[in-house]
Amino acid sequence: MSYVGPDFDPPGPRRSRRGPMTVAVAALVPGALVGWLVWQAVGDSGGGGSTSATSTTSSGAPGASSAAPGSASAAARTPSASGTDDGKPPSSTFSGPATPAASDLPAAAGPLKGKVVVIDPGHNPGNFQHSADINRKVNIGTNWKECDTTGTSTNAGYTEARFTLDVARRLRTLLQQEGATVKFTQDGDRSWGPCVDERARIGNDAHADAVVSIHADGSAAGNRGFHVILPASVHSGGADTRAIVAPSRDLGERIAGNFVRDTGSAPSNYVGGGTGLDVRSDLGGLNLSTVPKVFIECGNMRDSKDAALLTSGAWRQKAARGISEGIVSFLRG
Ligand SMILES: [Zn+2]
Repeated sequence: MSYVGPDFDPPGPRRSRRGPMTVAVAALVPGALVGWLVWQAVGDSGGGGSTSATSTTSSGAPGASSAAPGSASAAARTPSASGTDDGKPPSSTFSGPATPAASDLPAAAGPLKGKVVVIDPGHNPGNFQHSADINRKVNIGTNWKECDTTGTSTNAGYTEARFTLDVARRLRTLLQQEGATVKFTQDGDRSWGPCVDERARIGNDAHADAVVSIHADGSAAGNRGFHVILPASVHSGGADTRAIVAPSRDLGERIAGNFVRDTGSAPSNYVGGGTGLDVRSDLGGLNLSTVPKVFIECGNMRDSKDAALLTSGAWRQKAARGISEGIVSFLRG
């Protein structure tokens, strides 16, 4: 944003130019403040110092990230702090747009530079309105299965699809800060799907170094905790997971370990025998993957205690951080 603001304009055009500018600033500032205040209010004591991840708003709106402008401008300023060696006064480095969207930024020069991570936000908020489309059968190698499902929800109606998209966006921000190239299978930008076979194909075609499919479970009340689902060794029809079983387990174990640490949630008390790990051969998204991939069920939406966590923006940020740190650990070896 330029400092040549409306106050310097001649009286004539002043009125017409001031309108939009005032609206833009009015819209931006409260959003940034709310994001920051929420972060301050919920800031966990063991936050790891990564205060740039301030997207703790619970709106789930695309780029909700009041964090994105904040961290973007912070990133833009970093070079300028030592940039006086170009002979220009420091203020000149502030003349450009200060708030590019996070997705417009080039990959940061972090440890994951050159790495591709595909995030699969499970389900799609629009699946509920497209029963015929999502019930169509697709081949998953071992058998035929529905294209996609609606996913579950909390008893109060907070849907799994909303949850997964929100965690996915938080996760994207964290991974981009590490320098990774991040792709989504869907970003709330299509009316339904994609089907599970396409979800797998997106990771394969991207030659992803790691893929994580984000979910929350719909089990009985009293069933609590998270679990990571690993691909079984499957060699049937179009499915051949033999090459990805070992690296996927490595990825999944690292995600589980970091998820425990960052969220404080316990491994599932109803799947996986307390390990937080499960192995399945009936999921098309895993069967058809040719790159390391896991699912994570972050908690049980039908349990009131788990639901209280899953509906908390602060907790979702911790969940995203746990998953991110697991991926970073896997990719750095
Ligand atoms: Zn799901």
